[in-house]
Amino acid sequence: MIPGSFDYHRPGTVADAVSLLADHGDEGQLLAGGQSLINMMKMRLAAPSHLIDLRDIAELKGITEDGGNLLIGPMTTQFDIIASDVLARRCPLIQEAALQIADPQVRYVGTIGGNVANGDPGNDMPAIMMCLGADFVLTGPNGERSVAARDFYEGAFVTARAEDELLSVIRVPVPAAGHGSAYEKLKRKVGDYATAAAAVVLVMDGTTCKEASVALTNLGQTAIYSAEAGAALAGTSLDADAVERAAEIVRGAVEPVDDLKGSVEYRTAMAGVMFSRAVARASERAGG
Ligand code: FAD
Repeated sequence: MIPGSFDYHRPGTVADAVSLLADHGDEGQLLAGGQSLINMMKMRLAAPSHLIDLRDIAELKGITEDGGNLLIGPMTTQFDIIASDVLARRCPLIQEAALQIADPQVRYVGTIGGNVANGDPGNDMPAIMMCLGADFVLTGPNGERSVAARDFYEGAFVTARAEDELLSVIRVPVPAAGHGSAYEKLKRKVGDYATAAAAVVLVMDGTTCKEASVALTNLGQTAIYSAEAGAALAGTSLDADAVERAAEIVRGAVEPVDDLKGSVEYRTAMAGVMFSRAVARASERAGG
């Protein structure tokens, strides 16, 4: 399929991009790596009259550490995420998830900002951002505001971003030193979206779990953050009974659809399996 016709804009600054969004209202759409949007346009599921390409905006690229936060520019590609030294040291969970997205060709151009702003429940980064307690900085005509990743997703392809706002920074609190994390993703083949996936971050105090954070991918209309599953792990030694109690909470929190990836029953069961595996691996990595 061939996309409909559109005018192409290539602003050099965030201010210019915001002004183009304001000029074109719901006729304008931001373009990052195009790995989701161009496919939607080819299928005529999206038909913007004005495409606003963010690729020349240097301030939207890169990863820095600022005090207790990692600041990730939304135009940072998944390839650059995987190659980042600061993420390897401070927050390897983001890299582990990026490595499980699509294939190298997609990762060279697909961006973390496009992945989180898209609102597709199949995207992997929303659950990672929820699990890490990240905030999204949105820049619009009236300045900046910040929305927690856990509050950003309102439904499939519906987010808290207003149509005249641009995601300008992803702010991730640096996880505690010595934390352990894991992202377990079940997919039918390399490059596929998740049948079920679970992200877990654990902070251990000796053999006791001090804090746990849990989020899930492609098991509902949006990524799912389960505070209850995290609370069920906290204060335990992550023994089999405690993990199974938390897995039961996970299975109760998901609402997958019946599709080519599997039945509701299968995907619900796999949510529990991915969660339990993620707890085991995060615990090993935390030395617990
Ligand atoms: P685009 O496609 O350019 O944009 C996506 C959406 O985000 C658009 O609506 C756009 O307007 C909006 N947007 C982009 N940037 C901003 C911004 N700064 N502010 C506000 N809105 C913005 N993804 C996964 O997570 N897991 C997978 O397993 C996976 N498999 C894939 C397999 C294939 C074959 C392909 C082609 C894609 C796959 N993807 C997968 C999607 C891929 O990760 C995309 O790169 C990503 O979802 C979107 O990033 P993008 O930079 O290409 O964004």
